[in-house]
Amino acid sequence: MKSLVVGNWKLYVNSVAEGKKLLKEIDRKFPRGVKSTVAVCPQVPIAAALRAEYGGRRIAFGTQDVSADLEGAHTGSASALALASSGLAYVIVGHAEMRALGDTDEIVSKKAVAALAAKLHPVICVGEPARDTEGTHFSFLSKNVSQSLARIEPADAARITVAYDPVWAIGQKEAPSPRVVSEAVIFIRKTLAGMWGRDAALKVRIIYGGSVLPESAAEFATNSAAQGLLVGRASVDAESFAGIIKAFS
Ligand code: PEP
Repeated sequence: MKSLVVGNWKLYVNSVAEGKKLLKEIDRKFPRGVKSTVAVCPQVPIAAALRAEYGGRRIAFGTQDVSADLEGAHTGSASALALASSGLAYVIVGHAEMRALGDTDEIVSKKAVAALAAKLHPVICVGEPARDTEGTHFSFLSKNVSQSLARIEPADAARITVAYDPVWAIGQKEAPSPRVVSEAVIFIRKTLAGMWGRDAALKVRIIYGGSVLPESAAEFATNSAAQGLLVGRASVDAESFAGIIKAFS
């Protein structure tokens, strides 16, 4: 399975001009021989324009959220159909920052299904808000995974990515160790195997997100079970993002 490196540009990039400049720099520093898929997710109003302007082939485009509804009377959101018709291929769903605004596991599951219906590849974020020594975060994670993916058919296993993107690891100085991440990735896969059976569970790409820098990316690439990364801050620094891509090449 190809690994996937996704840059979540959040509201860090706020104009087409800024986005174009950043893409140009990333392209210039893009390492040779990259075997992973690399995608960037600007905010909706500029994602399609940047995708249309981008002349290269090395970077795929997505965005950071999608409506749970494919069409109809739903003011203010963007449908999966509209995103797909703008040339976007990926969409992040259930990011902790969207969950903080009210996205429940059920909504996340509906958004993922809407994305699949429009042939977008959903990157479904899961992860516990905090950890404790008793390991209760594992029961949170198990419920979080099973409910956020509840509406997805096992036949679509290869068309989704699950991002283990725990709240406690986002926006920190350092990422957790590859061992901590591997434990969670293996636990998520076991949870999926319990839901869908082993064969389908093995088809799901599971990536890690939370305070990744080029140095930690290299460690995750060699010493963890993660099949790629979801990158926030470091994805809007061309040098850092290129270093992270290189680690997964
Ligand atoms: C995130 O918000 O999902 C994230 C990974 O951000 P950062 O890399 O900045 O911690």
